Amino acid sequence: MRKPLVAGNWKMNKNHADAKELLRALLDRSSEIPSGVDVMVAPPSLYLSEMAGNATDAVAVGSQDVSAHQGDGAYTGEFSAAMLASASVRYAIIGHSERRQYHGETDDLIREKIAACVAAGIRPVYCCGEVLEERESGNHVDVVSGQVKTALNGFSSDELKDLVIAYEPVWAIGTGKTATSDQAQEMHAEIRKVLGEKFSKDFAESVRILYGGSAKPANAAELFSQPDVDGGLIGGASLKADDFLLVVQAAG
Ligand code: PEP
Repeated sequence: MRKPLVAGNWKMNKNHADAKELLRALLDRSSEIPSGVDVMVAPPSLYLSEMAGNATDAVAVGSQDVSAHQGDGAYTGEFSAAMLASASVRYAIIGHSERRQYHGETDDLIREKIAACVAAGIRPVYCCGEVLEERESGNHVDVVSGQVKTALNGFSSDELKDLVIAYEPVWAIGTGKTATSDQAQEMHAEIRKVLGEKFSKDFAESVRILYGGSAKPANAAELFSQPDVDGGLIGGASLKADDFLLVVQAAG
């Protein structure tokens, strides 16, 4: 039985005071979080150490990215998965479409980032998803399956025991356009099929696959009701405690 996870990606939003206030609001209202749902928020990296220090079992803190480099070294601007672990950060979002689009991240690089997380005990939240042209040309399943296969190549299922996958159709991120629950279910089932073929059926059944892309209080319950949708990666609707908690409750 998979425990749903609802993760908030704050992206490059909120100054220090506003970020602290949002985390505080979520912590103060953690009794509103259903006991069967895991919650994670990913603030800007500048605030990670402080926020992870305040996090609880009810609201964990994750990073929006991590370096592919393992160990210390001359990598200006980077931070390692081991550093995240040392600061009590539990998850790292990896391969978000905005990292792919604006920072040229490829599935091979993303694979190295997953390896860094595995080595440091950070739970990777691996993002995949097709762009609009790929969906319109009917290639979306092949594209996403290919992304997953490349990113997870060479790992054992044991190494990936903490893996979370987020299916985020790029055309739905921040656009207000959401995949229908049927479209989400179709792709989540395909991703699970790839995991089953590549690893094992048991492993495939154990991995949480989140939906991301304009999920909000009005559509979350419908999306999360699908059998292979195990929660969500939430951008815009994670920036207000009221909205985010409604989405979290929809997963319960
Ligand atoms: C995201 O950035 O991962 C995301 C899903 O954003 P939004 O919910 O705003 O579409």
